Amino acid sequence: MANSKYEYVKSFEVEDRLLPCTWVVVRIDGRSFHRFADVHGFEKPNDINALNLMNECAKAVMEDLTDIVFAYGVSDEYSFVIQKASNLYKRRSSKLVSVIVSLFAASYVFNWHTHFPDKKLQYPPAFDGRAVCYPDDSILRDYLSWRQVDCHINNQYNTCLWSLIKAGKSKDCANSELKGTRADFKNEMLFTQFGINYNELPQLFRKGSYIYRKKVQNSTANGTQISRKSSFVVTIDHGDIIGDTFWKEHPYILG
Ligand code: ATP
Ligand code: ATP
Ligand code: MG
Ligand code: MG
Ligand code: MG
Ligand code: MG
Repeated sequence: MANSKYEYVKSFEVEDRLLPCTWVVVRIDGRSFHRFADVHGFEKPNDINALNLMNECAKAVMEDLTDIVFAYGVSDEYSFVIQKASNLYKRRSSKLVSVIVSLFAASYVFNWHTHFPDKKLQYPPAFDGRAVCYPDDSILRDYLSWRQVDCHINNQYNTCLWSLIKAGKSKDCANSELKGTRADFKNEMLFTQFGINYNELPQLFRKGSYIYRKKVQNSTANGTQISRKSSFVVTIDHGDIIGDTFWKEHPYILG
């Protein structure tokens, strides 16, 4: 195409390629979901339909963008791990973030009715996004552990907070009762005051959700010959990703 005299404006665009050979994590987070949750009457502290919807959107993103090897989600956020060697969108940060965030938000609206058949979506939700590079596997693991620890701390706090509120306390009063208390105090409070055994709450609430491409072996018989092929199935689970067990069972994820 012929160059126009206006073409020079292209030179104002800044280079935003992410460092090569590093894990790229794109984390998206619901914009003002405190309000969004209120307006749509989310159950407190954990609305299971809202979490399932988040998970379905993350799965849709992973099924579309095959360079994403892992995703971890909690509350209104999701982190997508893009493989080190990826050259998707030439590793341009703005492209990666905007495609993931818009695909996620569009999926949220697209799938809303299947998770909330009796609730009308009141206004279009938005998500923010950012990309961060992590130079090695151990720092990437620390990043994911950070998010899962955060899930635990917030969930334990919110479970206490909403138990107090549901028992008739004001939000301010419940917050001040919990201020500065330790984990064992909160567990004890839940058990003695509300009969809740924290460790028996659903893993979805306590640990969040992760999505990965699970390696499965398929055998097909053709006469006397059996051929085995492996394939990868996008799979969601809610276990621990801080310890080594999960990663040792699935070494190919970061391999
Ligand atoms: P920001 O725009 O800065 O992210 P925010 O209001 O979204 O503001 P967050 O720190 O992201 O603040 O917190 C998200 C809030 O959304 C939670 O504190 C909670 O109130 C609500 N929320 C999200 N998911 C759920 C859910 N599944 N069940 C109940 N509440 C939820
Ligand atoms: P990329 O992902 O790189 O942007 P693309 O296929 O979206 O790839 P564009 O250069 O953005 O490529 O071009 C958008 C294309 O979408 C157009 O070439 C045209 O074929 C189609 N398109 C967009 N809007 C319309 C429209 N209103 N009517 C008909 N075709 C359209
Ligand atoms: Mg935020
Ligand atoms: Mg938010
Ligand atoms: Mg959040
Ligand atoms: Mg286009």
